[in-house]
Amino acid sequence: MPPTTRIVIVGGGISGLAVAWALHERRQRQADGPPLEVVVLEGEARPGGKILSERVDGFLCEWGPNGFLDREPATLELCRALGLGEQLLPATAAFGKRYIYRAGRLHVAAAHPLRFLASGLLPCRGKLRLLREPWVAARPAEATDDESVLAFAARRIGPVAARVLIDPMQSGIYAGDPARLSVASCFPRVVEIERQYGSLIRGLVAVKRERRRQGTGPSGSAPGAGPSGHLTSLRPGLQLLPDTLAERLGGIVRRGQRVERLARSADGEAWVLHRRGQAPLTADVLILACPAHAAATLLDGVDETLATLLRQIDYAPLAVVALGYRREQVRHPLDGFGFLAARGEGLRLLGTLWDSTIFGDRAPTDHVLLRAMVGGARDREAAALPPPTLATAAHEALRPLLGIDGSPVLAEAVVHRRAIPQYNVGHRDRVAQLAAQLTRHPGLILAGNALHGVGINDCARNAKIVAEQALAQLAST
Ligand SMILES: Cc1cc2nc3c(=O)[nH]c(=O)nc-3n(C[C@H](O)[C@H](O)[C@H](O)COP(=O)(O)OP(=O)(O)OC[C@H]3O[C@@H](n4cnc5c(N)ncnc54)[C@H](O)[C@@H]3O)c2cc1C
Repeated sequence: MPPTTRIVIVGGGISGLAVAWALHERRQRQADGPPLEVVVLEGEARPGGKILSERVDGFLCEWGPNGFLDREPATLELCRALGLGEQLLPATAAFGKRYIYRAGRLHVAAAHPLRFLASGLLPCRGKLRLLREPWVAARPAEATDDESVLAFAARRIGPVAARVLIDPMQSGIYAGDPARLSVASCFPRVVEIERQYGSLIRGLVAVKRERRRQGTGPSGSAPGAGPSGHLTSLRPGLQLLPDTLAERLGGIVRRGQRVERLARSADGEAWVLHRRGQAPLTADVLILACPAHAAATLLDGVDETLATLLRQIDYAPLAVVALGYRREQVRHPLDGFGFLAARGEGLRLLGTLWDSTIFGDRAPTDHVLLRAMVGGARDREAAALPPPTLATAAHEALRPLLGIDGSPVLAEAVVHRRAIPQYNVGHRDRVAQLAAQLTRHPGLILAGNALHGVGINDCARNAKIVAEQALAQLAST
C-alpha cells in the first residue's frame, strides 16, 4: 500500500474551498488512485473569506460580493454540483439599467448609441471625441510596455469619456486607481479587441453581429450598459456557497486554524505548517489560497524573493454600507442596478447598488436596501473611518440624490482593510517572476484572487487549474 500523501490548502475562502472541492470530485472519479488526504486550514471560525452574508433586521446584507456573472460556467457549475441549482437567483431585468453620477445628478448610462449621445452624461466635446474612436490609430503591435487603464481609455475614447465612463466602471470591480491599474491585466479582452479590430467601437459592433449570427446573445444577458452576462446570486445570500462547500467537505475543512509559520521538513521533501497550540502539520503539496500579504508573511524566512513579490501586490480598502429605508421614504424609483460615481465630482462614494431592486427578498416588505461602497485605492482615509461615521456620511450623501426623507431604519457598515488586490502596471511581470521563483519550490502553489482575476468566477475557474497542478506535482514526486 503506497503511503498517504497530503495536500494542505491555507485559506478557506472561495478559492481554497473550490480547490478542495475540485480535488474531492477528482477523487470521486478516480477512487482507485493512491491514498490522498486533503486539508483546508482556515484562520477564522467562518468559511468564505470575503463572501459574507448576514440577515440584519430582515435585510439581507452582503458585506462582500453580491453575485457573479453567468457569462462563464465555473461558479454556476460549482453551485449545481453542490446541489444548489434551485437556490440560484438571477438578477431582475433592472440589472441592465445603470446610472452614473456626474455633475451633481444621476444619468442613465444608455447602451443604445443614439440614446447615449442624446443623454447629458458626456459634455459635447467628450461625445465628439468618443465618436472619433474608430479613426484613432491602434497601438503598434510591437509596443510592449504595460499601459494603465486611464492611459488606454484616454488614448482610445478621450480623457473626458475615460473619466466619466471608464473610471466608474473600474471602480465597480477594482475600487482602484485607473492611472495605476494595468489595462492588460484588468481588462485583457478590451486590449485584445483593439489588437484584433483596431478600434473598440468597430470591435464591439463586430462581436455583437457575430453573436447575433450565432444566436448566442444578447438574450438573457444584461441588455444595458453593464458587463456581458447576467448577475446571479443565491436566494439566502452568497454565503450559502462557502457554507455548503465546507459542509460537504466535512472534516477536511478545519476552522479557526491560522497558520503562523512555514518551514521545510528536515529532508527538504515536505512543508511543515505551524499553528498556535497545535502539533505541526506536514504537507507534500502546499497551496496558499490566502491573500497575497498573508502568503508573504508565511514565506518570510522561506523565500524572501517570493515574499517581496507578493507584498508588492497592493490591496484597496473598501467599506460596505448597508442602508435600509421604508419604501415611501425614497422618492427615486430605484429602477436599476444602482449607480457608480465618476471621480472628482465631489461625492465621497464609489457608488451605490440598489440591492432590493436587483434581487427580491433583500429587504422586508415595503422596504428598500441600498449598499454604498466607500474608499478604494484613492480614498484610503474614507474606508478607515469608524462604521457609524461611514453609515451617516453615506446616508447624507444619498439623501439629496435619491430624495430620501427621514433617517434610515438600517444603517450599518463593514470595513475591509484590504479588500481587493490591485493589478497595477507591472502586474504581468510580477506574476511571471512569481511563476519563475516558484519553480525553486516544488510542491508550493499560489492560489487565491491576487494573481489571475479578482472575481468569484476567476477564483472558481482557477481552482480547477490549481487542483490539477497539485495532483501533477504529487505524481512527479
Ligand atoms: C466588498 C467586496 C465586494 C466584492 N464584490 C464582488 C462581486 O460582486 N462579484 C465578484 O465576483 N467578486 C466580488 N468581490 C471579489 C471576491 O469577493 C473575491 O475575489 C473572492 O471572494 C476572494 O476569494 P479568495 O478565497 O481568493 O480570498 P478570501 O476571500 O480573501 O479568502 C482568503 C481566506 O484565507 C484565510 N487566511 C488568511 N491568512 C490565513 C492564515 N495564515 N491561515 C489560515 N487562513 C488564512 C482568510 O481568513 C480567508 O478566509 C468583492 C470583494 C469585496 C471585498
